[in-house]
Amino acid sequence: MNERALVIRARRAVTPAGERPAAVVVRDGTIVAVEPFDTDVTGAEVVRLADDEVLLPGLVDAHVHVNDPGRAEWEGFATATRAAAAGGVTTLVDMPLNSLPPTVDVAALTTKREAARGKLTVDVGFWGGAVPGNGAELRGLHEAGVFGFKCFTLHSGVDEFPPLDDGQLRAAMREIAAFDGLLLVHAEDHHTIASAPACHGTDYRGFLASRPDEAERRAVRRVIDLARETGCRVHILHVSSADVVPVLAEARAEGLAVTAETCPHYLALAAEDVPAGATEFKCCPPIRDRANRERLWEALRDGELDSVVSDHSPSTVDLKNPDTGDFGTAWGGVSSLQLGLPVVWTQARHRDHTLSDVVGWMAHGPAAQTGMTRKGRLAPGHDADFCVFAPDEEFVVDVRTLHHRNAISPYDGHRLAGVVRRTWLRGAPVAFDAAPRGRMLDRGRA
Ligand SMILES: [Zn+2]
Repeated sequence: MNERALVIRARRAVTPAGERPAAVVVRDGTIVAVEPFDTDVTGAEVVRLADDEVLLPGLVDAHVHVNDPGRAEWEGFATATRAAAAGGVTTLVDMPLNSLPPTVDVAALTTKREAARGKLTVDVGFWGGAVPGNGAELRGLHEAGVFGFKCFTLHSGVDEFPPLDDGQLRAAMREIAAFDGLLLVHAEDHHTIASAPACHGTDYRGFLASRPDEAERRAVRRVIDLARETGCRVHILHVSSADVVPVLAEARAEGLAVTAETCPHYLALAAEDVPAGATEFKCCPPIRDRANRERLWEALRDGELDSVVSDHSPSTVDLKNPDTGDFGTAWGGVSSLQLGLPVVWTQARHRDHTLSDVVGWMAHGPAAQTGMTRKGRLAPGHDADFCVFAPDEEFVVDVRTLHHRNAISPYDGHRLAGVVRRTWLRGAPVAFDAAPRGRMLDRGRA
């Protein structure tokens, strides 16, 4: 295949070297050059962005629960990947749990790939799972192309994906280190949570008290001790408590291979503002107070957190207890896949951050963390995945117009800055009324 070249001219383009006017040259779905704005490319098709639009690399969301097969009524590959595309996300990596079966062996990965086939509007990779008893499956999953393995240090929310105890965690890390894989950890210490007050009722403060900061800090400390002992590369999922940040900084100063992410809801929302019974705000670990939120922003600014990913974890409306508003038994998970970029940008610009910073957290960071070398950058040799973003246009979120399956989101009614006008996948605009063009990605080939 040798298609005619395509040139995208943008007065503002976010390249790895910063924001600048650029002509991005694309051939056969790959970026081949990033040239000065007026560069002439003979015979090329030219697309020129409007003056209020910025060309970003397509975002990479490394933390999405698609829940398909098995709980496709919670979400599904078709709806999740459309939501992603509409939100400027051109690559996502699916979590191994909440689907049935969970992705804990190669047969389950095959089942998941079959469920995804023909339904993908964006490119999708898969995480495997580390659970009690599947140590012998990890290497096979690694060789079959999963990007790494997720585990829990306490109950995951679904019985078929149990947590690892301390001995099992050490054994899994030894095994994963043996093939230089990556372990992702949901880090909340179950002893700390078991001795915290139990949560029931509609008052958000009760839920917050049931998942204290100390649970995160202790679990992260333990994971880091085991990383030192085993040599396993680790990634801390969804950092909510800023108390974790100094622990991460110490581990890195020591030279340990530790990365960490946070999520839009921890950066945009605050415990003080959660209305009684508003279970759409419930997630684990919890949204904490405003002072903590500002400390997370400092950690991003200082490079102590590597990426911002959605942890889109939807469910059906009934599981959110809309009738009782009881935080104790409501499903824990925030739906935000389509909104991550405007949610983060709205907050970031108030704190004097640039779009380059946001692209660092939402494209470069997650691509690096997952080992993707063709995704998340406006640079030669990368896939021509783009997000055309109008950063100064505002809109009010109407949850009923979002693409994800169930109309629940804590951002409903929020005014946000930044509209995703178009998304491109491997050199072609994403068309919602045409056959989906997304591919399944394997570690080492994305
Ligand atoms: Zn998650």
